[in-house]
This record gives sequence, structure tokens and C-alpha cells, in this order.
Amino acid sequence: SIVVTGATGKLGRLVVEALLDSGTPAAGIAAVVRDKARAADLAERGVELRVADYDRPETLADAFEAGDRVLLVSGNEVGRRIPQHTAVITAAKAAGVAQLAYTGVLGGPDADFDLAADHRATERAILDSGLPYTFLRNGWYTENYTENLAPVLAHGAVVANAGEGRVASAARADYAAAAAAVLTQDGHLGKAYELSGDTAWSFAEYAAEIARRTGRDIAYSDVPAETHLAILTGLPEPFAAILVDVDRAIARGRLAGTSGDLARLIGRPTTPLAESVAEALRHQA
Ligand code: NDP
Repeated sequence: SIVVTGATGKLGRLVVEALLDSGTPAAGIAAVVRDKARAADLAERGVELRVADYDRPETLADAFEAGDRVLLVSGNEVGRRIPQHTAVITAAKAAGVAQLAYTGVLGGPDADFDLAADHRATERAILDSGLPYTFLRNGWYTENYTENLAPVLAHGAVVANAGEGRVASAARADYAAAAAAVLTQDGHLGKAYELSGDTAWSFAEYAAEIARRTGRDIAYSDVPAETHLAILTGLPEPFAAILVDVDRAIARGRLAGTSGDLARLIGRPTTPLAESVAEALRHQA
């Protein structure tokens, strides 16, 4: 089977959709989920459900079968992910899967920001396992920004500490289509793809795009890291610190790479920023 972990998450759901869209029979897809109830719609469509939790290695024993082509969607608890992912890799190795694809981070071993540490360690663990792998080094989702338009519209400002840094983001659905491609096509074993949008945009351009679409005054407010941290007081402190660190990485150009790998894998241009902004504003209205 083609196995997708994190299948009830935003990316995982889109990967299952992309697999179905590309003609993979539902019976050939297995969704690894923590909560079956949240995947009832997938089961109804004929997708096999396998219940497992990265935190409970014993549950992972039945998640994979020999010959499966597996997508490990990285977990969302930063700092816990190394043992979690290691448990998944161990289970995949024990089962004898034919492919382990992993959603890492743009830059792979060269990504030097806090959020990247778990991804670097996971890639190393996959290499050490000897499993046939495909590294999907995902750049930023445009939705990281467009799902958070409310404060931008409320304050008339895009606040960041990213300086003139640029972000080559793409839509989650673009990354999902790439994952579906490497799971269904031959020729992707032992490869690392640097996945990102075709165009890198600056926060000033992002603010200008929102202004253009809404007819409102929206400016980019480039603030010092400490100021940004103070502005993010509503968030749990470790998460706010990660966001500020990411902006510093953006200022250093770490999320600006445009290798073209993503467009090549999906066989079409990536979703433009303007399109994602328009889509998000439709939902905002
Ligand atoms: P989501 O938070 O929507 O999905 C994360 C998925 O991981 C969920 O399905 C969740 O399961 C699953 N998961 C988390 N912990 C466990 C666990 N202990 N056992 C089993 N499953 C677990 O994030 P997205 O889909 O948007 O993104 C996917 C991943 O990409 C993130 O988890 C993160 O690693 C990374 N990411 C990348 C970003 C980027 O811009 N490139 C931005 C943000 C995150 P459940 O559905 O049960 O909660």
C-alpha cells in the first residue's frame, strides 16, 4: 500500500486527496491516524485506516507492511519529534517498507535555524536506517501567513523581524501533490528534493498584495526580534520564540531558495502568492 501518516492533518489530508486524484485506488491507500473518528470520511471512501501514535512505539508495529511506500509527515510537537520520528523509522525498518518519504525542511542538513534541528536529526536517522528514502525538504506553506490574516487586517500591518528577506512559499496543496508524485512514480529513491515556490516574495510585497486586494492601507512593519517577541505575547513563549527565529532565518535568506524542484515534481507552476491571498480573503469575508 501507499501509507500516509498524519493523514488527519492539513497536509496529510491533501496528500490522500492528491493520491486519489492521480488515480491511486482507495484500496491501495492506508491512512495512519491517531483518532479513527476523525478519518471516518476517508474510511467511507475506501481508504484503509491504521491507528498509531508516534509517542507509543508499540502501536506503530501494525502501521506498516513489507513493501509499503510510506510518507512520514513530520509531527507538530517541536522538540518531541526526534524520538517520535525515530519510533516511526524503527517500525518502518522492522516491517521492511519499500520507501520512506519524509517531509523535512528546505536546506536539509544546511538549515541552521531552531525549527530545523528535528528535521536534520530525522534525515540522519533515516540514512542510518538504510531504508530506501525520499527527502521532501519543504519550504514554507503560504498558508502559514494567509491563515493568519485577521491581525494583519485589524492592525493594517504585516509585522515580522525578517528585514528584506524573501520567502519562496508554495501552497500546501503543491507540497501534497509533490508527495503524491514521489509515492506513485518510480525514480525517486535516494533523492532529496528542495521544494519551494517558484517565486520568492518579500514581506513588503506581501503587504502590498493584501493592500491591493482589500483597498486598505497595509504596510510591512519590520521590527526588531525582541519587539516581535513582545507582540506575540498571546502565543505560548516557545512557539513565539520559534516564529521569531524563523524570521531571522528568513532575513538570512534561508527560505528563499527557488530550485524549481517542486514545479518539476508536480508538472505545473506552484500556486502564486496572489492566488493564495485572494483565496484567504474570500474566506475572511
Ligand atoms: P498539522 O498540524 O495539520 O498535521 C500534523 C499531523 O501530524 C496531524 O495529522 C497529527 O495527527 C500528526 N501527528 C502529530 N503528532 C502525532 C503523533 N504523536 N502520532 C501520530 N500522528 C501525529 O500540520 P500540517 O499538516 O499543516 O503540516 C504537516 C507537518 O509539516 C507539521 O506537522 C510540521 O512538522 C510541518 N510544518 C511545516 C510547515 C511549513 O511551512 N513547511 C509549517 C508548519 C508545520 P492528528 O491529526 O491526530 O492531530
